[in-house]
Amino acid sequence: MQDNFNFSDLLPKSPVIPVRLELDETFQFSCHKGIACFNRCCQNIDITLTPYDILRLKNHLGLKSFEFLHRHTVPFEMDGHGMPGVKLKTRDDTSACQFVTEEGCSVYASRPTACRYYALGMMSMRTKDSSDDEDHYFVVREDHCLGHLEPRHQTIRDYRTEQGIDTYDELNREWRQIILKKRSCGPTIGRPSDRSFQLYFMCSYDLDSFREFVRSESFGRVYEISPEAMESLMADELELMKFGFRFLKQALFGENTIPVMAGAAEERAKRRREINEQERQEHRRGAESGLPPGDSGK
Ligand code: SF4
Ligand code: SF4
Repeated sequence: MQDNFNFSDLLPKSPVIPVRLELDETFQFSCHKGIACFNRCCQNIDITLTPYDILRLKNHLGLKSFEFLHRHTVPFEMDGHGMPGVKLKTRDDTSACQFVTEEGCSVYASRPTACRYYALGMMSMRTKDSSDDEDHYFVVREDHCLGHLEPRHQTIRDYRTEQGIDTYDELNREWRQIILKKRSCGPTIGRPSDRSFQLYFMCSYDLDSFREFVRSESFGRVYEISPEAMESLMADELELMKFGFRFLKQALFGENTIPVMAGAAEERAKRRREINEQERQEHRRGAESGLPPGDSGK
């Protein structure tokens, strides 16, 4: 099972059937437990996880987000700038999903977006004069998958509803837009800082650490959040995830929707200058002594 279709992946040997389908068009496909190829698609996976995938899976498994990330994912770079992504880890020395069992998917109710889409691919496009994305669909037909021979025809719309894709897409849409915007900024502003990648990673994938960050004293010194709003963020993970996207847009693109305390921006800039100066001095001392920065040699 491969990750969601991306237009740039349309190579000569691609299993994608190059016919664009719209929501009310039909395709032939059915997957069920009695089919001869049952589970075969889960034996060779390459699945990129989205923030909502991680939220659902970590709750399904009763884990904190950082435990889930540590046990069940591998990091990768999503682009040439090193934008961090995470993929589902495979079973030791194989390319099989660690969640596949003889009975099928052991996390079926919380399976990731890519698993829900299969055997469809989706491509989002935005026309020049529009602010809305248009979604188009493709059938992904891999040789091992016999579901395409089953006598069931359904519309893309019905298939999406059956697989619960609408909710996943809705909750991941804003995050996908952040990735696209960050990528499109890339060549003009150069490689983003490590700090912005760390923020991106935490807000996107590590929701439990983001919750700790939001309730920390340092966050409270800078951002003005009413007690009611804070209570709702602490109690509702979906609210927190969406707030994380807002926070990312503010930190990365200056889209200021979260009020900042008076004087906090100046105070932060001052502290940043002090830290930079401290780092410069440590480097200078290290260069003079021949030791790495921060190493006193004791
Ligand atoms: S029909 Fe396709 S999707 Fe279903 S189990 Fe077989 S290979 Fe997987
Ligand atoms: S999460 Fe479930 S459906 Fe997706 S690849 Fe793993 S076993 Fe298959």
